[in-house]
Amino acid sequence: MPLGIYISVPFCKTKCSYCNFASDVFSRAVFDRYVDRVCADIANGRETGAKMGGVIESGVDSIYLGGGTPTVLAPDQLKRMFAAVHAESDVRPDAEITVECAPGTLTPEMLDALFECGVNRVSLGVQSFVDAEAAAVGRLHKRTHVVEDIAHLHAAGITNINVDLIAGLPHQTAESWHVSLQEAIATGVPHVSVYMLEVDEDSRLGRELIAGGTRYHAHFVPDEDATADFYLAACEMLNAAGVLQYEISNFARAGFESRHNLKYWTRQPYLGFGVDAHSMLISVEPGLDAIRLASADLLENYVAGAPLQRTVVSREMALEENFFLGLRLNRGVDLRDIADKFGCDAVAELYPTIKQLQADGLLDAAANVVRLTPRGRLLSNEVFQSLLTTS
Ligand code: SF4
Repeated sequence: MPLGIYISVPFCKTKCSYCNFASDVFSRAVFDRYVDRVCADIANGRETGAKMGGVIESGVDSIYLGGGTPTVLAPDQLKRMFAAVHAESDVRPDAEITVECAPGTLTPEMLDALFECGVNRVSLGVQSFVDAEAAAVGRLHKRTHVVEDIAHLHAAGITNINVDLIAGLPHQTAESWHVSLQEAIATGVPHVSVYMLEVDEDSRLGRELIAGGTRYHAHFVPDEDATADFYLAACEMLNAAGVLQYEISNFARAGFESRHNLKYWTRQPYLGFGVDAHSMLISVEPGLDAIRLASADLLENYVAGAPLQRTVVSREMALEENFFLGLRLNRGVDLRDIADKFGCDAVAELYPTIKQLQADGLLDAAANVVRLTPRGRLLSNEVFQSLLTTS
């Protein structure tokens, strides 16, 4: 099974108010040291993975640069990281190679570098096509930047493009959300991701919302019911436009589903490099299912060489992961596959919970395949929790 490679670039030009990732604004002085460390980790990645007890495959069929905003790096720095991957891995000729970009950062030099690095998929962090909404959360781009970037990418031969949108941004209304969805569809991009605004302690906007304050336009954030309605409207509009939902937050035209992200949801192996990057490898130890590795989540610790955190995934944990990751996909989880891998008893134990979730309108079950209903997707965390406590 070929590997996926993830590289985290935790640098951004500004910090968006809703952002809860391990990314921030750092001096360019650290970029070279960071790239050096990532390249060294890539050079040692296979050996490290094997030492940690993981099965290392030779081929690579997806590379994903995320963050952060990878395109804040200089073209040469990006090229160095790709060269490190190619030096260590047999990257398949048809590999999916994705780079996340902030709209407005795709200079001609950067486009040339992406082309030279073999990038064939770009994910644009648009979040909203309404300029006032993007500005309210600290995004630096306008709608016109997005339209221009897509035209430039097409001219460079990159047509496999994703647009990220967020439902529940400050000042968003049903009408303005409709505009963003219409604009996303009108661009003709084959992939759209729709996330609901996350309210937690890890972002400035989240903390302000929890505190009931008004900074960061928090008092203009739509309520939970409105955000849920926006999400359901997105499912309806995108599906009607042929950009079909295949995962809770992801929609694609046929054949444009993200190969890299499908690895996460179907538990295929991947190696991650950089700040707060994670790896999952099949375990060499009989009786264990997999190992997960996590790198330091603070830049200074990562650059200083902090060791990886290793977690072993037992068969019981693997059963849970099969459910909560597999159910994210619209195709659902085939109980016959679960029974083959974990035994009939494991499935039998889950039946009462599955029946209850069906009765609550959160799960559909037909021909041994269980799937989230549209309501179940909105309440997916609750569904996963009840399955976890049963298994
Ligand atoms: S560009 Fe993305 S990663 Fe950077 S601060 Fe904004 S949301 Fe976070």
